[in-house]
Amino acid sequence: MIVCMTCQEGRLQRRNLTYLQWHDDNLLIVNRVPASVCEVCGDYIYDPDAVEHLQQLLWAHLPEKQSPNKRKRSPA
Ligand SMILES: [Zn+2]
Repeated sequence: MIVCMTCQEGRLQRRNLTYLQWHDDNLLIVNRVPASVCEVCGDYIYDPDAVEHLQQLLWAHLPEKQSPNKRKRSPA
């Protein structure tokens, strides 16, 4: 068992949480993302592997408009 880094007291339990993330004006909601939740203070950490997997899925589907360099297109 891992001890919580926030309160140094509780232990982290495996839970499935809802993952929320804003992308510009769009709110991404992913249900049942594995995470570790402190039983004492309620602090939580998403499973790093799950988050990375999510990010990869996300970036694969987003149109290429995130890079600021690509938006610099002069009218001439
Ligand atoms: Zn804690």
